[in-house]
Formats: sequence, structure tokens, C-alpha cells
Amino acid sequence: MKIYDIAFVGMGASALGTYKLKYHNKNFSIIGIDKNFNKSRNNFFAFWMTDWMVPFKSIVKNQWSKWEFYYQKQKITHESIASPYCVIRYQDWKKFCLADGHNFSIKENNTIKIKKKDDFFEITLDNEEKVYSKKIYDSRSVDIEHDGLKQHFIGNIITVSNGHQIKNARLMDFRVKQDQGLHFIYLLPLDDNRLLVESTVFSKFLLDPSWYKNQISTYINENLDIEKYEITDSEQGVLPMFEINSQNKGNYVQIGAKGGATKISSGYAFSFFLKQLTSKDKNYQSYWDKWMDKIFVKYLENNDKSDEIFMKMAEKLNGEEFSSFMMGNAKFITKLKTISAMPKIGFIKSYLRIVLN
Ligand SMILES: Cc1cc2nc3c(=O)[nH]c(=O)nc-3n(C[C@H](O)[C@H](O)[C@H](O)COP(=O)(O)OP(=O)(O)OC[C@H]3O[C@@H](n4cnc5c(N)ncnc54)[C@H](O)[C@@H]3O)c2cc1C
Repeated sequence: MKIYDIAFVGMGASALGTYKLKYHNKNFSIIGIDKNFNKSRNNFFAFWMTDWMVPFKSIVKNQWSKWEFYYQKQKITHESIASPYCVIRYQDWKKFCLADGHNFSIKENNTIKIKKKDDFFEITLDNEEKVYSKKIYDSRSVDIEHDGLKQHFIGNIITVSNGHQIKNARLMDFRVKQDQGLHFIYLLPLDDNRLLVESTVFSKFLLDPSWYKNQISTYINENLDIEKYEITDSEQGVLPMFEINSQNKGNYVQIGAKGGATKISSGYAFSFFLKQLTSKDKNYQSYWDKWMDKIFVKYLENNDKSDEIFMKMAEKLNGEEFSSFMMGNAKFITKLKTISAMPKIGFIKSYLRIVLN
């Protein structure tokens, strides 16, 4: 009976990163288990450039030093040359992490059960096969049936045959329907002909795919000066906006979204699990940031008109401050500025809801 040193149960973004940064070609026997391992997934991972993301600069696909927010007639533009907004694509990440790896094998299966034996684990696969390992990194998907707030979205990559004139990333464009929760368009110009246009909702309930697709086409017709385009690719996701507490025990370790890496107010997780892997600080986010996020999300859950709060926050901060706030490395003064943009009574109520719960 072969007992591997390490088993990755779920071989997505965080498992790939953990392999690359901790185990790549070291003296360990490693197995990855993931039914979707060879699927054509190629989503974008966005983040603002920080010191701990510099080692991955070579695989950054696009970067924008300016990003924008839109609400009714208002437009706010941020700029940061030092911390541009960047994206890495999933397939580039996978290639980067696995390149020349020779201490690694893969099983394209789902994991049905993990059982602790004496000093190793027994992993049962969907074909009844058993795999044994001394240590497990578990990144299987989080439960989206949870009744908490979620960020859900569909994005289309559109190819515009005559080209477009959009230069900056649009982080949040609220000039769209607001009847299903907080809704905005996220838009990235990928090159002179291609745009990623995403319809994103913060709410407890998922919508029919046709809803997001209609929002995207309406937005393109009403807000972009584009006549003819073709949808050439798409991505979709459901990200938790509720706290996930990892349940690590000995050699069983939860990582990625399952391990609590998601910044719940934004859905960003990619840079946070990499921060944990590359720094001495073993927390994804600081205690303070987690509390702020919890209060903020509680506020979103119980109040309309949250679009105005995002705009106020964007208005108070400059590009450097905003990116540092989003990446969890803001100075104290930036945190104070952010708090000053929040509605005081609503936030006190949200705080009380959390502590009294
Ligand atoms: C479309 C999309 C866009 C995103 N964009 C951003 C972004 O711009 N910036 C950012 O910071 N974050 C983003 N995120 C959030 C987050 O970074 C990603 O979800 C990231 O993939 C989390 O990594 P992970 O390893 O936890 O999960 P995943 O990458 O989803 O990996 C989990 C893996 O587990 C496998 N799996 C699930 N169940 C089983 C099972 N029973 N047995 C075996 N394998 C199983 C899945 O097939 C999957 O490959 C995005 C997420 C999505 C879905």
C-alpha cells in the first residue's frame, strides 16, 4: 500500500500555489485529486500589485494603472503607478505552478470521503479507489447553499471587430438595475478588441444565468459605444460573503476559499492565500480587517443604497490608499478615512447585530 507524503484534495488555484511554493521538486511524494483538473477553466484572478505578488509579475496578463467607479452621473478615477490593478489567468497560473514538476501525480476523480487512520489518512474516490497520505491539503469547494450573502456573477469576453476606446478598468459601474440586490458591472479592457464585461450581484439568492447575460447586453448597448461584437469566452462564479472558519487538525489542513482566504467584502482570495504562503504572517487578513469586513457585510445584508457607500469610500481615498485598503496593508490613517466614509448609525447597528448574535 503506497502512502503519499502529501495529498491535495482539490487541485485548483490554492493547491497549485501551495505545491509550487512549498513542495515543487522537493523530496516528497505528492498526489493531486481533482475531477476537473483538465477542464478548460481560464478565469481571471485580479489583485493590486504588492510586494508579495512581485514574484508572479512574469505571468501578469494585463495591468491597469487607472480604475474607475460610476454611479448615476458621477465618475471617480483612481490612479496608482506603484500598485496597478493586475490579472493573472488560471491556465497561466497552472502552467507556472506545475512547470518541470516531477514529484507530482494526478487522479481525475472526486473525493467522496476522508478518514483519519493511525498516522495517515484514507481518501475514498468516486470510483471506490482508496488513496493514502500522511498529510492532506483540502480545498474542495465551499457550500454555496449557505443562506449568507454571496457575490455571484457571469462575465463575457466580447470581441469587438472595429475595436473599442476603453483604456481603464471599471471596478464598479452601478448604472444598472438594482432590483435583485446590489448590482454592478465590472469591466476590463483586455486589448484593443476585447473586453471582459461582468454582471455581479451581492445577494443571498442566485439568479438564472439569462438574467446576468441580459444585464451584460443591456449595459453594452446603453453604455459602450459598440455596435457589433461577438461573445468569445465566459466565466462565472459564486463567492462567499460569509465567514468561513477553517477546521485544521494536525496534518489535515484546509486552504484557499475553504480555508477562509476570501476577503468577504470583495470576494478576493487569490492574493490572500499567496500572502499567507509567502510571508511569516499565517493569517490571511488581519484581525482588524476581518472585523471591518464582517461589519461591512452585515450592513450590506440589511440596507439598500449600498452603491452610494462604495462611491463615498472611493471618493475619500486616492489610488494608493484604495489599493492598500483592498489588499489589507493599509496604514492606520487610511483605515480611519475609510471608516469616515461609512454611515455611522448603520455601522453601529451592524456591529451590535454581530456581537449580540
Ligand atoms: C470565476 C472566478 C473569478 C474569480 N476572480 C477572482 C479575482 O479576480 N481575484 C481574487 O482574488 N479572487 C477571485 N476569485 C476567488 C478565488 O480566488 C478563487 O475562487 C480561487 O480559485 C480560490 O482557490 P481555491 O483553491 O480555494 O478554489 P478552486 O480554485 O475553486 O479549487 C478547488 C478545486 O477543488 C475541486 N473540487 C471540488 N470538490 C472536489 C471533490 N469533492 N473532490 C476533488 N476535487 C474537488 C474543484 O474542481 C477545484 O478545482 C474568483 C473565483 C471565480 C470562480
